[in-house]
Order: sequence, then structure tokens, then C-alpha cells
Amino acid sequence: MKFGGTSMAGTERIRRVANIVRAQAARGDEVAVVVSAMAGETDRLVNFCREANPLYDPAEYDVVVASGEQVTSGLLALTLQALGCKARSWLGWQLPIRTIEAHAKARVESIAAEALIASLEAGEIAVIPGFQGMSEEGRVTTLGRGGSDTSAVAVAAAIKADRCDIYTDVDGVYTTDPRIVAKAKKQKAVTYEEMLELASVGAKVLQTRSVGLAMKENVRVQVLSSFIGEGAPPADDLPGTMIVSEEEMDALVEKGEMERQLVTGIAHDKNEAKVILTRVPDRPGAVANIFEPLAAASINVDMIIQNVGRDKGETDVTFTVPQADLARAQALLEDRRDAIGFNRIITDSKIAKISVVGVGMKSHAGVASTMFRALSERGINIQAISTSEIKVSVMIDEDETELAVRVLHTAYGLDAVS
Ligand code: ADP
Ligand code: ASP
Ligand code: MG
Repeated sequence: MKFGGTSMAGTERIRRVANIVRAQAARGDEVAVVVSAMAGETDRLVNFCREANPLYDPAEYDVVVASGEQVTSGLLALTLQALGCKARSWLGWQLPIRTIEAHAKARVESIAAEALIASLEAGEIAVIPGFQGMSEEGRVTTLGRGGSDTSAVAVAAAIKADRCDIYTDVDGVYTTDPRIVAKAKKQKAVTYEEMLELASVGAKVLQTRSVGLAMKENVRVQVLSSFIGEGAPPADDLPGTMIVSEEEMDALVEKGEMERQLVTGIAHDKNEAKVILTRVPDRPGAVANIFEPLAAASINVDMIIQNVGRDKGETDVTFTVPQADLARAQALLEDRRDAIGFNRIITDSKIAKISVVGVGMKSHAGVASTMFRALSERGINIQAISTSEIKVSVMIDEDETELAVRVLHTAYGLDAVS
């Protein structure tokens, strides 16, 4: 069971969580719980790091930001004990949850689960802080923002759990962020592949890596709400959203429990920034010169467009990087101005990426053109486009994000009938 930040925000809410955990354990299940820091806490800690030293050392950043989860794991163990349950916390370094060295964006390598399993078998509820691990050098690491989902899936895989229930502040995965589109529909099931794509283009309900890991390790993941009343049915009967294989999805469609949809979901991401390099030489090696230094600095580049070369053998190159990395990217490129040979560097953080995702796209034409038409009818200008087998993304002005998501939700016939 994993509980997110909103579910853990304050003693009252932690008590509610403890009751849900107790009810699950009372059914005879062995339960490991992974918790997030209280909502807003990780942001607060990140800000302290920025104030202390804008060019903070990621290893010390991890020491600071991992602390939010230490607090909530201890508090949940205490609350469970107050309810008469046997419970204890297991910090990342105590299990340990071993990760690679990459501070602030570490990946889980392995979890030593023997002691944990022994404690579960002895009837103790295990409470594990999400987001944190330990590097080979024995230092604290964190898994990137939203990383508690990944901790939960990794723990579930390590103890071979029957299921990994992700409790959050919405009751499942919707066709789009229900906080933006009131008519968003809850999905009974979503395939791993679609969930992976949705998460990677900004649907923050699950961290992308958690979905990839669940897919690889065959972990059954369910998304459901922790905001349920006393006496609510246990998670085994609660209608959340199951993440399923394509075969399972086919079976659900056959039984009439799911409709086959062309588009499963629409996501938005306001965390990217646009970079334009003008008048780059139009010759082999030019783009390699741009993207190699960014890759060496671990800066992820997402959308890339190279315009058709103009006369004089020059071209503009446009791409996106995470906003948090924009300043670094800009500095790296400025340093290599001569080697790359560009004229101007233009940046813009006020952009958003809107994506439509659905496996139905593999076999149906017209998904992209529907998107372009619907946006144009509302006067929304498209600045860049990228596609994958099951996704189409466009870059637009950030101010038009909510409008674009609503318009597309209607255009693909996803609005719930009220
Ligand atoms: P937690 O703190 O529990 O990890 P998050 O804030 O990380 O919760 O993720 C839950 C939020 O994800 C919801 O409150 C919702 O606003 C957002 N969200 C974005 N896209 C979707 C979607 N397609 N379905 C459900 N929730 C979504
Ligand atoms: N507390 C961390 C964050 O806010 C991890 C998580 O909540 O999943 O990013
Ligand atoms: Mg989250």
C-alpha cells in the first residue's frame, strides 16, 4: 500500500491512513506500506536547499529532501501502534534500498527484503519511507520527484506482493486530470503501455519509472483514493483503476466491461522550456554538436525540430528541456557557441506540451489531424509536434493549457455524460 502526500498531510489524515492499513491487515493480509512526505513538504525542503546554495551539491540535497518521508513513516508507525497494531518503520538505508549513485534522480538497483519479509511474517506492519534509498557509497539518495510510487512498486516486487495499491487523492486514473476537466471519466483499467506513455507526458498520478518497473517486474498496480469514509469496502473490492496487460484489456473489452477507445487519455506538462538556436550550419554533425554536451550533463531533451535548411546552408533547431535544467543548458550551449556555430539562442519557459495517448492509434488514422483541427478552431497555435506509436504531442502557449485539454477531451468524445 502506498499513500501520497495529500493522504499523509497531518495527523488527522495519517490516522485515516492508519485505519485503511489496519482494515487491510485485519483481513489476514501481510502489509508493507510506503509513504510520501506531507503534501508541500518536499517543495519546502527543496527551497531551503536553493536558499542555502543555489548550486547545491545533489548529495546534500538528497540528505535534506529525503527527510520528509522519514517523518511520515515514523508518524504512521506511531499511529498504527496507537490503534493496537504491531508496526515499525524501515528507512531506506536500513533495509537497504540500494540505488545507483545518481543523486536526486537515482534508480533502484535492489532491495534486501529478507529482514522485511521475516518481520511481515511475524505479523508486523512495515512502514517504509518512499523516495529514498542508499547509494553504493552508503549515502542517502532520492528517486526524483514523485518517486514514492517507484519505491512502492520496487518494494512490491522485492517481497513478491500480490498487489501494489497506490492510494492518492483521486479515485483512479481518469481520461485526463480531473482537476482540469470536470467531465473527465475514470477508467476501470489502463494498459501498462498507455500508463507509461501518459505518465511520461505529464499525467503525474504515477511516476513514469514506477510504471516501467511494474511492467518489467509484473507487479499488479491499482490506483485508488485514500479519501474514503469509515466502513468503506477494502481495496480488494474498491473500484479503483487497475493497470493491466494488453491481453487482460482485450479480455475486459470482450466481456463488455471496457469500451475499446482510440484515445485513452490526455495529459499536459508545463515543466518544459523551449530553446531555439538560429542559423545553425546545415551539415552532418551539427546537431550532434548541440546535443552531446546536453547529454553529457544529463539534461533530457524531449521534442526536437530541425527546420528545412534555408538558403546559405543554415537552419534553425528548436527543442525542449526541463525548465529546471534550462539555465544549465543555456550556459553549456553559450560556451560552445563557436563549435556549434549558431547565431542566437532564444528561450521560452511559457510553453506547455499537450499529449493524446491511446493504443488505438496504432491501427487508426486521423488521431493527429483531429487534434490539429480541434486546436485550430479555438485559435490555439501549435509550435512543435512530436509523435510516437501511441502518442501525439504538441507544444503550445502555456496560457492555453487548460483550454486545449478541455477542447481535446471533447473532440475525442471522452466527456462523461452527466
Ligand atoms: P500523490 O501525492 O498521492 O502521489 P500526485 O499529486 O502525485 O498524488 O498525483 C495525483 C494527482 O494527479 C491528482 O490529484 C490529479 O490532479 C493528477 N492527475 C493528472 N492526470 C491525471 C489522470 N489522468 N488521472 C488522475 N489523476 C491525474
Ligand atoms: N515527496 C516526494 C515528492 O514530493 C516523493 C513523492 O511524494 O512521491 O516528490
Ligand atoms: Mg505522486
